[in-house]
Amino acid sequence: MTSRTHDAIAFTSLTTIAALNPPESINLMTLVGGFVAADVGSLLPDMDQAGNDLWDILPAGEFLGKVFRRIFYKHRTLTHSFLGVFLIYTFFSWLLFKIFDPSFLDPGILLTSLMIGYVSHLLADCFTKEGLPLLFPFKWSFGIPPFERLRIKTGGKLEKYVLYPGIWLFLFWFIYLHQENLRRLFALVK
Ligand SMILES: [Zn+2]
Repeated sequence: MTSRTHDAIAFTSLTTIAALNPPESINLMTLVGGFVAADVGSLLPDMDQAGNDLWDILPAGEFLGKVFRRIFYKHRTLTHSFLGVFLIYTFFSWLLFKIFDPSFLDPGILLTSLMIGYVSHLLADCFTKEGLPLLFPFKWSFGIPPFERLRIKTGGKLEKYVLYPGIWLFLFWFIYLHQENLRRLFALVK
């Protein structure tokens, strides 16, 4: 799936989860930071793909890129697996709690938001033709539904014209139905 679809899904997932399971307290910086963290989380799994583009702009990247791409940059491997989720969680739970003072930015909420973005990316990719190597380094790939030809083509018409607008329509519908929850959430903000 394209990064703008992943962005939209992460934003919608975080809004939905926060409205249904609000935190006990939250300050304004953390509220904004949470949305940034979810966005970062949703872009992290495709860093291996951005690597491909990087090779293309390097001088002599054509040849070097071909060699190194084979070794390091096969798209959808570690970052799209359970092992990847575990490593990202471990790394960020160490980093965020180390650098942020909870009275300024709550590291627990940032971590939860980042993981919501990350997991929402993997769930969304399950519906694409490529499927997910969830058990990497084992090679099997998984998808929903299990038959590849019924799944979505990344960047295709279905994603652009049906799924992408559909996500925003869902969000509006959800906000309309859960106005009370969202008002309570905003009332928590200090
Ligand atoms: Zn992906």
